[in-house]
Amino acid sequence: MMKVGVTGGIGSGKSTVCALFATLGIPIYNADERAKWLMNHDALVIERVKDLIGKEAYDANQKANNKLIASIVFRDKILLDALNQIIHPAVKCDSEKWYTAQQSHPYIIKESALLFETGMDKNMDKNILVISPEALKLTRLLDRDHTTVEAIKERMNHQMKDTEKMPMADYIIRNDEENSLIEQVLEIHKKLITI
Ligand code: ATP
Repeated sequence: MMKVGVTGGIGSGKSTVCALFATLGIPIYNADERAKWLMNHDALVIERVKDLIGKEAYDANQKANNKLIASIVFRDKILLDALNQIIHPAVKCDSEKWYTAQQSHPYIIKESALLFETGMDKNMDKNILVISPEALKLTRLLDRDHTTVEAIKERMNHQMKDTEKMPMADYIIRNDEENSLIEQVLEIHKKLITI
């Protein structure tokens, strides 16, 4: 069974693209959501995050204080790298367990915002990059998250640029207002099931 990575910058439309693949019956592993789940449920991850950030990283109900954690690590690259060194191996292990339960499908998808940044792309058979014009991403994110342009740009600055990621991708999906998203997904799906 093939493993296919789907990535893209914040607000590029990764989840929208994955929802289309899901309608074709393809199982989706959302690495970003699982990372958040593991932060709250995996005892070893919780212990390590507390050791790194401090006990205040979790509230009285043992729920991760994501806002506090983000505000600390996004100011300190060493801490951010150390946090990634806790989370990414845990996600890798979790996803490998999940793959073994999906053997009846022609391929599965792993969705991750940081597929190339973490080197996770190398564990995939094919990688799909979703790109979208910056102005469109900003409009959609302002609409979805009710946040500020500054907050979005700060998150964008922590990700690789599309121009760096494009040569690393096997397929590129253009989520703009000129190309049909559905047609692009169908075309890639047809190619993947014949490999
Ligand atoms: P994040 O990086 O924050 O997880 P993402 O890359 O998964 O974002 P989506 O959540 O899929 O992006 O899309 C961002 C927003 O833009 C969502 O509200 C989504 O509904 C909207 N959107 C994405 N693609 C389209 C499209 N082709 N047409 C209309 N709206 C779209």
